[in-house]
Amino acid sequence: MAVMVTGGAGYIGSHAVLALLDAGQEVVVVDNLVTGFDWAVDDRATLVECDIADEGRVRAAIRGYDVDAIMHFAGSVVVPESVTDPLKYYRNNTAASRSLIESAVTEGVRHFIFSSTAATYGTPEKVPVAENDPTVPINPYGMSKLMTEAMLRDVAAAHPINYCALRYFNVAGADPEGRSGQSTAGATHLIKVAVEAATGRRSHVSIFGTDFDTRDGTGVRDYIHVSDLAAAHVAALDLLRADPGSSHTLNCGYGRGFSVAEVLDAVDRVTNMTIERKLEGRRAGDPAELVADNSAILAALPWRPERDDLEGIVRDALAWERKLAERDR
Ligand code: UDP
Repeated sequence: MAVMVTGGAGYIGSHAVLALLDAGQEVVVVDNLVTGFDWAVDDRATLVECDIADEGRVRAAIRGYDVDAIMHFAGSVVVPESVTDPLKYYRNNTAASRSLIESAVTEGVRHFIFSSTAATYGTPEKVPVAENDPTVPINPYGMSKLMTEAMLRDVAAAHPINYCALRYFNVAGADPEGRSGQSTAGATHLIKVAVEAATGRRSHVSIFGTDFDTRDGTGVRDYIHVSDLAAAHVAALDLLRADPGSSHTLNCGYGRGFSVAEVLDAVDRVTNMTIERKLEGRRAGDPAELVADNSAILAALPWRPERDDLEGIVRDALAWERKLAERDR
């Protein structure tokens, strides 16, 4: 019996692969390597290089490896790009997920774990935001993920499959053992950008917006360590297997926020540097504050945050960034 991990050559997927392998699971990765890297897939896993929408090959892999569960990470993740090229997001996220879910149902896969996002909430009416609060995405990325959640809900009602949609808040950091990290060049996420600046790949960090209604005027987010997030997936898989009649939608965050200025202060402390900050205007579509109400995940899973420490997150991200810089030299 094996777990299929789509997008297992990518940032979050490769950490989930490590967590599954460390828990003794057999893992088959399906990745088209468009944004992922084959070297990011641990040697203990099998890599099938194909698109998740390739139903013939995906179904053959499900059969060949006796897959009972799918963790689905593959997709496009750049919010501004989703605004300029929405059809790419509805193809790579929504339509490709539809194909994958159909392959799963046809082959009798019993459990499905889906990478969803806090972007499904849009601009929340209240913070912290809970799972049953309104979902009104403000960009095609969030909508493409919400549409997949809707498919899973309907499919689980019609077929013998259960699912867990995990709505990620701001994922950051890297495997504390240095086995994986965020490797995509040109990333836009704050902690990645800041550690790139710390290792000389960038000259400065832009602060997008200093006039939000927050404690210091900069945007507040709920940063979660990628290894804690990976562990939540393993716990969700255990729950789906133990209770095949239940499905869940769960926020993945620590339930507390840090401002951009606070994050950059932490980076300065960890690096012992003063990284140059440039104050700029707000990015389109950025809410002031996005923090998870995480009471549902704490109640549903035995999972508990183990790396809820901003400086620790920055330290792990920085160690990986230094490794990447070393390799490029
Ligand atoms: N941000 C910033 N400078 C950057 C990247 C991000 O000031 O170079 C801010 C952004 O406006 C938001 C927070 O940092 O308030 C987190 O943004 P990120 O892109 O990491 O994730 P998002 O919350 O947009 O998914």
